[in-house]
Amino acid sequence: MKKGALTLSLAGALALSAVPLNSSVVEAVGNGPGYGGNETINTSILTTYSEMADFLKKQDAKQENMELEVIGQSVKGRDLYVAKYMSNPENPTILFLTQQHGNEQLTTEGALEFIKHLGTGKMKGVTDNVNILVVPMLNADGAMGDVDFSLEDYVASGDRNLTRYNALGVDLNRDHVTKIQPETKALHTNVMSKYDIDYMIDLHHQGANSERDGELVSGSILYPTTPNVDPEVLEGSKKLGAVVFNAVDSTGWGHLGKYRGGDAETISRNGIAVEYGISTLLFEMRGMSDHEYEPYVLGQKSNGYLIKQTVTTLESTVRAIADGSIDTQDTSFWDTLAFQQTRETE
Ligand SMILES: [Zn+2]
Repeated sequence: MKKGALTLSLAGALALSAVPLNSSVVEAVGNGPGYGGNETINTSILTTYSEMADFLKKQDAKQENMELEVIGQSVKGRDLYVAKYMSNPENPTILFLTQQHGNEQLTTEGALEFIKHLGTGKMKGVTDNVNILVVPMLNADGAMGDVDFSLEDYVASGDRNLTRYNALGVDLNRDHVTKIQPETKALHTNVMSKYDIDYMIDLHHQGANSERDGELVSGSILYPTTPNVDPEVLEGSKKLGAVVFNAVDSTGWGHLGKYRGGDAETISRNGIAVEYGISTLLFEMRGMSDHEYEPYVLGQKSNGYLIKQTVTTLESTVRAIADGSIDTQDTSFWDTLAFQQTRETE
């Protein structure tokens, strides 16, 4: 038992018991970060919607080649943003989408870090050869727990809960065919239909207890799995996945499995690939920031690694698209990459 965890927050004492301490979890990761759930789930450490909006506006003012645009409003009237780096219309274009599910926040933290990097020497010159679109926190209302349904069973403590669904209780990632919700409508009208996008990574979080080859995964990936996807688009998706797999799984702390996904086109990974001919990749990071179902929530000890995993994913893919190395990726690893399995929990 880590005594230090107890000093983190008194208010978190309840949540402390909500996620069971499982020492085998830590050992199983071996060369990875400690993935134990022995911490308080205190959401006040996460970036709020307004902090994100302020950050984006500051970066927009600071970064010459970045342009910030409002693409629409959430159910509760929050402005939804796209951060654009469009140096040359002839460049290949990639879109990063985060937090369609409001309780999957670390992907947004990573995307903001990535945007910051784009304004520094670290990524100098990259945006000359690739266009980048970032839509962070699409489900802004769910992310802030500003919803029209009960939050009493949610695990997290702190000043906010985070929900999968939007304010009306709708799963945005099942709305990509009908596009009824204002958030999905904004995305399709002012991003998907407006730009000539070649690649998209849709960033999510999954449950905390999936494993591959006996080790807990830090995430899982999948290409479009509808039979209606164009074979070339599918191959592009597999190449995108190869870049991500090689960048993340080789780090020592990253360990990826193959996500087991269906063929519904209401899901962006499938629907967007078919409707727009965009090569898509689903990336599910480990563990959610909040949920009603306790085993889905991950202690915050791994936050740094999961944010880093997002940054690694975004940076490796823009570099591979910018220098053209994405085109020569070997996609055969997909044939041997095992599906993740759910580990039995106590
Ligand atoms: Zn999700």
